[in-house]
Amino acid sequence: MDYDAIIIGAGLGGLSCAALLAKHGLKTLLCENTSQVGGCCSSFDYQGYRFDIGASVVELAWVIDELFEKLGRNTSDYIEFIPIDPIYGFITAEGQRFSYPVDVDKTREVIASLSKEDAQSWERFSEAGSQAINKAFGRVMAKPMGTLKDMIKVSLENPLLLKFMQYFFLNFESTLCKFFKSDVIRASMSLQSYFIGLPPALCPGYVAFLAYSEHEGIFYPRGGMIAIPQGIARAFQENGGEIRFNSTVKKVLLEGGRARGVELEDGTQIASRIVVSNINAKTLYLELVGEENLPAWAKRAIKSYPVSMPSPMIMLGLDAKPELEAHHTIPYSTLDNMNRIWFDDYLNGRIPAFGAGLISWPTHSDPSLAPEGHHILNMIAFAPYDPVDGDWDKIKEPYLERQFDVLEKQFGLHLRDHLVVAKVNTPKDFERMLRHPRGAVYGLQNDITCSAAFRPGIRSRAIKGLYLTGASTHLGGGIAPTVGSGIVAGDFILNDLA
Ligand SMILES: Cc1cc2nc3c(=O)[nH]c(=O)nc-3n(C[C@H](O)[C@H](O)[C@H](O)COP(=O)(O)OP(=O)(O)OC[C@H]3O[C@@H](n4cnc5c(N)ncnc54)[C@H](O)[C@@H]3O)c2cc1C
Repeated sequence: MDYDAIIIGAGLGGLSCAALLAKHGLKTLLCENTSQVGGCCSSFDYQGYRFDIGASVVELAWVIDELFEKLGRNTSDYIEFIPIDPIYGFITAEGQRFSYPVDVDKTREVIASLSKEDAQSWERFSEAGSQAINKAFGRVMAKPMGTLKDMIKVSLENPLLLKFMQYFFLNFESTLCKFFKSDVIRASMSLQSYFIGLPPALCPGYVAFLAYSEHEGIFYPRGGMIAIPQGIARAFQENGGEIRFNSTVKKVLLEGGRARGVELEDGTQIASRIVVSNINAKTLYLELVGEENLPAWAKRAIKSYPVSMPSPMIMLGLDAKPELEAHHTIPYSTLDNMNRIWFDDYLNGRIPAFGAGLISWPTHSDPSLAPEGHHILNMIAFAPYDPVDGDWDKIKEPYLERQFDVLEKQFGLHLRDHLVVAKVNTPKDFERMLRHPRGAVYGLQNDITCSAAFRPGIRSRAIKGLYLTGASTHLGGGIAPTVGSGIVAGDFILNDLA
């Protein structure tokens, strides 16, 4: 055997699992398709600016602490987290601006200035949110949730989960409406459903508590989002782990129905005791393992999952400070509009007319990412993979211009005046760069029928010796859940190989 374990993909799930295996003395190789670590949680240098590829902040950072603790290390020796406060600034089409600070009581004052009734609801919501995050959902992040038995076991260990079970069956929208009455407050918490790639009407209710979890603290890593995977990769390499960049895995090698290594695109075959995948589960099973090697039930099951919604990114280098107040700004959009984006636009192949989604200003937190006096803004939106408006490769420029128009006309933001450099990563670019099929950056769709025990398992049920990490498995996309998936996979493997 060349290695004990081979990991396909150096995203957060793959890296976290790899680091744990190396720490326990397993000879571990990570094969990464690109020339750097991090996948969607990464950054690149372009014309003097350091742009983030996808993720823009970390929530529930304690999951990263849990990983470093398991590695016998302190997170702060590997990653410097800068606290973000305020969490969000909002701009309404009428030009009204307000922002939510981290502090829960100060947020209540902001809410009271917009809706007296909802200021009281905020107290109830933040109390429920604190329990949901600290004692219920948040605590399962690094626990196995792959079978109904696992789910029952964690619920029995954690009785508060039972109390919050209702939010599995309510959607995001009705959860928000259960607490808040005013449209402006509901709208200020509505974008979070798209953080897992779904509209408020389809997103599971428990995701609505993200609007509270951010008040537990959100962070930006100094040096750009790539600093997180780089920190984990350093811990991995210190324990003897190897990374091969520009090494795309073409096939999972099987022996008697068991994963026994990988074949790279250049034909190199590498043998191992087990294989871990950090890539889209449909690509893994249907292409790398091969349909012909799957039992009929597994073939049907994996084909039944829809892939997640794509998320095009606009990255701007500016020669002046933007007229914003926070690391994140949300151009105000109602719950109805958030649903319309999905049902009227996305499902009909149209790029939403309101497309900015989230504006991220990383130089607000870390000025070193741009030349002195310059700034970076990223605009994260939601759109179909194959729009009726035309091929993404041909419509980048008009797409960018349209976003500028919306921000100017509806929200009074004049970014063109200070533009030095602009880059657009479309769903096709995500597919080419990171091999996300159809630009599906959150892996598989994450509605309730594709969550937890209903998602492809971390320990493959179809192929022995094969394990999954990342956005396609466990609890889906996001930094905390994917790091959590790596921890659970690592624990399974160490137990199975013991
Ligand atoms: C625009 C955007 C904004 C986001 N914002 C946030 C945020 O603010 N906060 C947050 O918590 N989350 C955010 N997320 C989600 C979060 O970034 C992802 O869910 C998480 O980083 C995914 O990790 P992963 O382990 O699934 O791996 P991925 O990031 O999917 O990485 C997979 C890796 O596998 C490699 N690979 C693919 N195929 C092969 C192959 N055949 N051989 C070898 N290597 C291969 C790829 O190159 C890639 O490096 C955002 C995502 C996007 C796209």
